[in-house]
Amino acid sequence: MNRILVTEKIATEGLDVLRQAGNVDVRLDLDKPTLLSIIGEYDALVVRSATKVTAEVITAGERLRVIGRAGTGVDNIDVEAATRRGIIVVNAPASNNVAVAELTIGLLLCLARRIPQAHASVQSGRWARNDFIGWEVRGKTLGLVGLGRIGSEVARRARAMEMEVIAYDPVVSFDRAEQLGVTLVTLDELVQRSDVVSLHVPLIESTRNLFDRERIMQMKRGSYLINASRGGIVDEVALVEALDSGHLAGAALDVYAQEPPPADSPLIGHPKVITVPHIGASTKEAQLSAGTEMAAGVVTALTG
Ligand code: NAD
Repeated sequence: MNRILVTEKIATEGLDVLRQAGNVDVRLDLDKPTLLSIIGEYDALVVRSATKVTAEVITAGERLRVIGRAGTGVDNIDVEAATRRGIIVVNAPASNNVAVAELTIGLLLCLARRIPQAHASVQSGRWARNDFIGWEVRGKTLGLVGLGRIGSEVARRARAMEMEVIAYDPVVSFDRAEQLGVTLVTLDELVQRSDVVSLHVPLIESTRNLFDRERIMQMKRGSYLINASRGGIVDEVALVEALDSGHLAGAALDVYAQEPPPADSPLIGHPKVITVPHIGASTKEAQLSAGTEMAAGVVTALTG
């Protein structure tokens, strides 16, 4: 009988699918030493994003044949180490496109109208209507860095709001971009033209610190940055400097270099920054489809 270890909360429907392939043990919030001491008993390991499946964990998992990731990004898994051992890594790539795209649009509108700040102002007993003169997204240029599954869904929604959408993605064809009503440009052109830049690339070596000081300073004066992809893509110190100097007008972040960010992070309490706690994929629909899509892949890998 296969044994499957689940270390993070996934949809009940996903657990039901996993049970078709063996016994499922749900052990939430395992610390690293405990995970290392028990992983050797399991044929499959199922995680979301918090469990770090390092080479050490993979080596200790002597029986492991498959690692399931209920979600998209696999940067918490050492895929190379897994592949070397012949372990299959299964994720759910399509499950949260819409959830992240809708959050991105939400953050865009929050930047334009300063909705979180306006809410906080009313809640503190003020009625400062003149402090909240915003701007309309219609006619503004949105620059998407990455036009994959999520970037494409953001593009569709931004086009529906009559934005001009430009994108930089080295593997996307002109035909595909045209279908989405998006103009492909170079990264230099994108940052120079966009009123709002939104990041939708994976965290890989070529994107780590892609938005460093130099790139941020290339952005149009008074523009905005949205990051609902991965924290390591933006240099947070350079971002805060650009906000403080007035070069950038605002930023909205779902992801951080360190999660949660330390209490003394300059991003916390910054008047020009909107922060949410990595909730891009946190919708009922995305959780359900992440759990079931990944579980089906794990079952196939164990039994197929
Ligand atoms: P995807 O693979 O469909 O698309 C990523 C795109 O980025 C690809 O088209 C690729 O060609 C492009 N790309 C890669 N390197 C690039 C570079 N240097 N410059 C420009 N483009 C580049 O992935 P996706 O499903 O759209 O997800 C994008 C990212 O969103 C994920 O990798 C993940 O990090 C993040 N994500 C975040 C959340 C969240 O909760 N906030 C949830 C899911 C995914």
